[in-house]
Amino acid sequence: MVMTMATINLNYDKLGSGYLFPQIAERTQIFLDKNQDAKIMKLGIGNTTEKLVPSIIEALHDSVDNLAHNETYTGYGDEQGNSILRNLIAEQYAARGIHIEPSEIFVSDGAKPDSANIQSIFGQGIVAVQCPSYPVYVDTNVIDGRTGEFDEETQQYEGIVYMPCTAENDFFPEVPTGKVDIIYLCSPNNPTGAVATKEQLQTFVDYAIDNKAVIIFDAAYAQYISDPNLPKSIYEVPGAKECAVEICSFSKSAGFTGVRLGHTVVPMDLVVEDTERKQLNTTWNQRQTRFFNGASNISQDGGLAALSEQGLKESQSVIDYYMENARIIKEGVESLGFTAYGGVNAPYVWMNTKGMKSWDFFDKLLEETHVVGTPGVGFGPNGEGFIRLSAFGHREDIEEAVDSMIQNLKM
Ligand SMILES: *Cc1c(COP(=O)(O)O)cnc(C)c1O
Repeated sequence: MVMTMATINLNYDKLGSGYLFPQIAERTQIFLDKNQDAKIMKLGIGNTTEKLVPSIIEALHDSVDNLAHNETYTGYGDEQGNSILRNLIAEQYAARGIHIEPSEIFVSDGAKPDSANIQSIFGQGIVAVQCPSYPVYVDTNVIDGRTGEFDEETQQYEGIVYMPCTAENDFFPEVPTGKVDIIYLCSPNNPTGAVATKEQLQTFVDYAIDNKAVIIFDAAYAQYISDPNLPKSIYEVPGAKECAVEICSFSKSAGFTGVRLGHTVVPMDLVVEDTERKQLNTTWNQRQTRFFNGASNISQDGGLAALSEQGLKESQSVIDYYMENARIIKEGVESLGFTAYGGVNAPYVWMNTKGMKSWDFFDKLLEETHVVGTPGVGFGPNGEGFIRLSAFGHREDIEEAVDSMIQNLKM
């Protein structure tokens, strides 16, 4: 008998030439090799830069100290998360008039893992994404076999419904014309910086209920919304509890990009019907208890502090700092005659490149100004002709990058 080697999941071969950010790093390195004393200014990756606020640092220190004594040591906690933290998260929703039970909240190690893992509880089916969008939604569905091959011509995977987000529709899509099963929405949006109104979200909630679809709502940037009329949660929209999962993160709201903490809401009212009626909450609980052993005790103690009155106040000042960066970037590129979107209730400025291809403009920006942006096309074909500029950075670095663009960009 011929024995064959273990095989790997061949869907991995369908993934594109690489995750966007390694590609950016490679091009930047090639430029640096040729221009050894150039100082690179990064407005590229969406990574936080400002130190954690005092109340969170104190809680993290205390949490470590607790681990140093048998009397206060803790090992495994509940897979679903610390019950005090889940209660506190439920209270945050309640403060905005939304009733969520702690049993509907699953604490996690972040929104990226949750938005990647959530597809695993669904059967096959058609996925719809905003275009452009955060690459994780598409790539994880590719890996799980919900798509065909990548089509170089259209820059799309076969089998995925891409919902165009353009200046003409204020970067929020129309509902699909046919039936889809799983819909990813992100608001405030990475990369466009657009924030969906309640009316816009209502169109998708109505569609999902009518078409028995489930919405995966990524609210990682919710705390960046300062306009009181814009929804921070999809549950502000009637009917959403019957059709939507919401994924949240402490990364951008409290600087936990490296600490790692998030949560996902799976409402009890969200019932999927196929051969039998199943609560998605039960299935996600099965998934989490098999694959996940809970978020770190230390991170969760930090999360408790982040949601305390003092923690929220201190973290808001960091958000305000990043949003001032966004204003500086947006005004800077507008003064150069570019059209720019976002940057008001989201930490991203979505800059139109005046007809240049995203990667060509990326190269021009790098060569002439030494500023690194993120090519819009990396987020999907409708991102072509745009560059994403990130407001995460130290003020002096942001100002230096914007000054360099104003002085050195040849138009
Ligand atoms: C940054 C980001 C996240 C956060 O992921 P974490 O794993 O919580 O750090 C989630 N979704 C989007 C769209 C993001 O940009």
